[in-house]
Amino acid sequence: MPRLITDFDGPIVDVSERYYQVYQYCLTTISRPGQAINLLPKSKFWSLKRSRIPETQIGIYSGLDESQAKDFAHLRRVTVHTMPYFKHDLIIPCALSALQKLQSRGVELVVMTMRRTRELDFALSNYGLDGFFRPERRYCLTNDYLKTQDIEDKTLLMQKAVQELPPDQTWMLGDTEADIIAAQSQNLPAIAVLSGIRDQAQLSAYHPDYILDDIAAATDLILEQILMSSASA
Ligand SMILES: [Mg+2]
Repeated sequence: MPRLITDFDGPIVDVSERYYQVYQYCLTTISRPGQAINLLPKSKFWSLKRSRIPETQIGIYSGLDESQAKDFAHLRRVTVHTMPYFKHDLIIPCALSALQKLQSRGVELVVMTMRRTRELDFALSNYGLDGFFRPERRYCLTNDYLKTQDIEDKTLLMQKAVQELPPDQTWMLGDTEADIIAAQSQNLPAIAVLSGIRDQAQLSAYHPDYILDDIAAATDLILEQILMSSASA
């Protein structure tokens, strides 16, 4: 059974509003009373994130001094993945129909994410996506997992998945370098999408097999490749 291993945030969920809300909260919290700050508009903020500008630099662009920018980056890191902010996430408009299409064409769906179990389960039920990913096809971090770096954590998760899942034609879909590197570590074709937190230049630097707009385009590509491989078999 052909299989798609998909990342969650980026291909399926748009996290830009959550990140922007956390940015505003951290800026307000860290700035001194009366300090002139420069709240970046969301489009500017998000394009800095997509081009991977460090958080401290975003703090400085927003009017903080260097020591504040360090505190700002720390506060952001401990806040961005907390339950009160997850409600700002939005499902990517084409995601539901793409998942339906893949499932109806017999592609097994596996989700692989740096979310914790409770954060993933909350979102899957919130967006009505439970039925696409069987419980044993959800690769995420346990609620008490000590995170290191996304690239290392995701590569470990990918190793585990490849050991557990029956070998079959498999694609990996994601929106960051961590997804691409995890796929490459197991010699899986990597499809990167532009609907998430990295722009074209950032993704190209890691040489994914494909860079596409979104999960809908990835679905078309996968179904076409399945058709081609069954025709040649
Ligand atoms: Mg992602």
